[in-house]
Order: sequence, then C-alpha cells, then structure tokens
Amino acid sequence: MSILVCHHITPRWIWGINSLTPGQLRNFLATAVEQGIHFVTLSQYIAKLDEPAQKRVALTFDDGYSDIETIALSICREFGVVATVFVLPLYAGKYNSWDVNWFGQKIRHLDWPQIGKLVDAGWEIGSHGLSHRDLSRLPETDCAEELRVSRQLIYERSGNWPAAIAYPFGNVSRKTVQLATDIGYRAGVVSSNKFDGFFSKMTLSRIGVYRFDTRRLFVQKCLGKNKQIVHYLQRGIDFCSNGTVVVKQLIPTQWDRIRASRE
Ligand SMILES: [Zn+2]
Repeated sequence: MSILVCHHITPRWIWGINSLTPGQLRNFLATAVEQGIHFVTLSQYIAKLDEPAQKRVALTFDDGYSDIETIALSICREFGVVATVFVLPLYAGKYNSWDVNWFGQKIRHLDWPQIGKLVDAGWEIGSHGLSHRDLSRLPETDCAEELRVSRQLIYERSGNWPAAIAYPFGNVSRKTVQLATDIGYRAGVVSSNKFDGFFSKMTLSRIGVYRFDTRRLFVQKCLGKNKQIVHYLQRGIDFCSNGTVVVKQLIPTQWDRIRASRE
C-alpha cells in the first residue's frame, strides 16, 4: 500500500526531475497493473485504510497542470486507473507564475472545463492551497484563508467539496493540521513522513515518482518494498526542494495581486 505523487506527464523537457514522458507513465502503469496492482483515488484508498492490501495504491498528481487532462487522463484510462489531482484554484487556466520558472519556462494549469472532464472520468479533485505558499510558514489567518477559500472555490466550480489537502512543498505544522481539520478536510498528504509522532490521516506520507525511476523501482514504490532506501531517497529530494521554498516566497502570487488590488 502506498500513496504516489506525480507532477507533469509531458514529452517536453521540463527542468527538474518531476516530469515523466507519456511513454514512461504508460510503461509504469502497464507493468504495475500486470502485477495485480490496483490504482485508486486518495479517498477510495483512505476508505479502506483499515483493510491492508499491499496491491492497492493511491495515485495523486500535484499542482494541477494542464497535461494531466491532455495526456495523463487517456493513458490512465487505458489501464482503468483513476487518480486524485491537487489543484491551485487561483491558477486554473493560468500559467505557473507562482513557481521559479527556470529559463523562462512557463507551464499552464488545468482550467475548470478540464477539471470537469477529470471529475466526469471518476477522478477526485483535492486542494493544494490557493497559490502554492508554504502553509507552515504563514500567519494563522493567511493559512486559514488558503485552506478555506481554495476549498470553497473547488466546490463552487467542480460541484464537489474537496476531501483532501496536499500541503504545498509537503510542509505542515501542527497548527496547519488543526486548521485544515477545523475547516473540513478529512485527509492531508505530505511527502516523506517527517512528522513522526503525529501521524494521522491529516499527514499521510507519499512517495514521489521521478524521471529517473525504472519500471522495477516504480513497482517497488507501489508495493512499499525497500522502504528504508525509498524513504531516505525521498527525504534527500525533499531537502533539495525545500531550498526552492525560500526563493518561491519572494515571488508575488496571484492571491497577493488580488489582495493588493482590493486594498
Ligand atoms: Zn506543489
């Protein structure tokens, strides 16, 4: 049993290790499904958390990029796979100006009609906050606003209340968890589990799927095999990605601009 997280599925070169080619995704899913692994949404996974089944895997996508609908959806369909996508409602249909766009590379997010197609296909939509800010570093009122307004917007535009939150950068504090719970989220996901001691459905750990993964490693991640190696690899990657958090804090977000225009 594992919860996996992917980002981009695209034939384009994207800076970093977070993108898979369509061929990679197809090969990974084909190999896993052939071995009896069953992919479900996060809510479906959580509903059966008390019935351990090694071959049940929740597939999640973070950031809600457009290629999830244009490319990943049809590949997943080939194998009867459904997934959960964590979106940034303020960036629906817009480019990822919240991110550090190395070499000017901009990538478009899913728009609401595309999100609707995913819902129609049985996929689940979760919240990734409003504008990809590190919730554990925000003042309480701002953190609560990110959690509440993103949830509300997803409900208004997709017709479903999001059950889960993927904390941006996988960073979370006890306060964040408390706020998310109070606001109505029933589950939360981080990346590697650095929250020993307060593990709960609000801080479920995930394993990233990366460009350098092989089919064998992907299946091992699905089955939770070689846990220690995968865990330390994940922590190393998380440590590196945290370095960019500081840089990203300096970029004004869409939410900052909306706020500034109101004042
Ligand atoms: Zn993200």
